[in-house]
Amino acid sequence: MTGDRRLATGDDAALLTHSTASADEGRGSPVARQCYSEDQLLPLSAVSQYVHCPRRCALIHLEQVWADNRATAEGNVLHEKAHGGISESRGDLKILRSLRLRSLRLGITGVADVVELHRREPAEGGVRIPGISGTWLPFPVEYKRGASKDIRCYEVQLCAQALCLEEMLCANIPDGALFLGQKQSRVGVVFDDTLRAETEAVCLAVQQLFAEGVTPPADYNKRCSSCSLFESCLPRSAGAGKSARRWLDRQIEGLCATNEYTSGAMLQPLSPAKGIAK
Ligand code: SF4
Repeated sequence: MTGDRRLATGDDAALLTHSTASADEGRGSPVARQCYSEDQLLPLSAVSQYVHCPRRCALIHLEQVWADNRATAEGNVLHEKAHGGISESRGDLKILRSLRLRSLRLGITGVADVVELHRREPAEGGVRIPGISGTWLPFPVEYKRGASKDIRCYEVQLCAQALCLEEMLCANIPDGALFLGQKQSRVGVVFDDTLRAETEAVCLAVQQLFAEGVTPPADYNKRCSSCSLFESCLPRSAGAGKSARRWLDRQIEGLCATNEYTSGAMLQPLSPAKGIAK
């Protein structure tokens, strides 16, 4: 690993400046020799959104569509709590919050809710952390609102964070945890070869999605009923070969083609309903 490394959190969230050397190099990973530039880095959150639904990922990041519902609002509150605290030190445990991460190998950047540092000897996987004496094993923790079912998208996001940390610190991080707000409990996540391979494949897919700039068609399924973008996505009608943006364009073109619209009839003020005082 080369270059000056600096660790900072919170408002001063900075990068651990890193080389592209990684603990993953030599594992035969399909992206092991990939190296993106700074301006090619994509948001880490897109990785989780892509696993949840590629169309949702595209609507948010390519078409700038967003809508909150109760689930997203509660998730925001949980994240604000996780990010709002200060870093702590308790003997052999340090807790860093709002740590900025990136991976030039995977082409992603984002902010980790919490990264715990557990004091470990080098033989136990401990690595040096810039600005902190001793050797430590990083342990990422991501805060999520949901329950323990259907958490694969969160596991992939957490693994992506671990891969960023491994690249930045030349570390090997075996596991991390999700804090699930609804259960108020932690679920351990092991970064095994299967999860690592899936995470790398998703990062490649997200890069491809952004490069092509085409919103995938809707795949209407049980997740759609709780999706905050349901009204924009129109998953029942935006099937194969369709996108919300193209659907909206077609609706506008259709309106423009009607006599009522072009004659200005739709712009006439409505008569007040009887019995309603002005
Ligand atoms: S409504 Fe369904 S298909 Fe549309 S973005 Fe949400 S989860 Fe994806």
